[in-house]
Amino acid sequence: MQCPRCRQENPEHAQFCTRCHTPLSYTCPACKHVQAHGGQCEQCGVDFAKYSALLVFTAQETASQARERTRARTSIVRQIILLPITGGISLVKYLLGLLRRK
Ligand SMILES: [Zn+2]
Ligand SMILES: [Zn+2]
Repeated sequence: MQCPRCRQENPEHAQFCTRCHTPLSYTCPACKHVQAHGGQCEQCGVDFAKYSALLVFTAQETASQARERTRARTSIVRQIILLPITGGISLVKYLLGLLRRK
């Protein structure tokens, strides 16, 4: 496979030129199809740039969802921790009410 830029002979299926590091083959991020040019996948038609942007967006989305989930879990944990306290207070109030009634 000859480099389109510097005409260096490279081994077949080389991803980058061994001399000038120009990308010689592109792997589709969606279907793993390997082709000689970037841009759009010859096999599944995915736009490489759009797909990588989508991947970054999905990663950010997943990260924020994970943060959201952690926050929800923390508030549940806080409620469980506070439960004996609030429960204890209402128990004290209940006992005081009993005492007052006598
Ligand atoms: Zn080259
Ligand atoms: Zn593809």
